Amino acid sequence: MKDETCIFCKIANGEIPSATVYEDNDFRVILDMNPASKGHALILPKNHYKDVCNLDSTVAAKVLPLAAKIGAAMEKGLGCAGFNLVQNNGTEAGQTVFHFHVHVIPRYQGGPSIAAWEPHAANEKELAETAEKIRTLL
Ligand code: 5GP
Ligand code: ZN
Repeated sequence: MKDETCIFCKIANGEIPSATVYEDNDFRVILDMNPASKGHALILPKNHYKDVCNLDSTVAAKVLPLAAKIGAAMEKGLGCAGFNLVQNNGTEAGQTVFHFHVHVIPRYQGGPSIAAWEPHAANEKELAETAEKIRTLL
């Protein structure tokens, strides 16, 4: 299941060269060409899935263990103090390449800082109503 027009299909399957840190039958892990920090990696499945909602369950089950393995190797090999897993779905969520991928972003003491959301207080009624809107569709 490849998409001829998809850049990440081409990279994941080796048609376009990349700085590859890991490869197996299901995945290629590459360095992001516009890293948020040194070592910023992208986990790419070799098959094309638009986003997490379309991901094959077998592939999905392998993603988090692989992300943990990559993050642990970053801590040892790059000396980062931790790492973020980021996964965007939809344009409004920041997705720019519509081939499922997970960002593994090393975090170092002293930065660089990475923008996060601005928290705001929510009251219990709002939380309950919002939870209900999601729960009823599951
Ligand atoms: P998104 O915004 O979709 O979650 O993330 C897409 C990421 O892919 C961005 O961080 C962007 O820098 C990276 N990216 C896009 N095209 C290429 C490419 O051709 N090669 C590499 N190595 N990274 C890419
Ligand atoms: Zn693709």
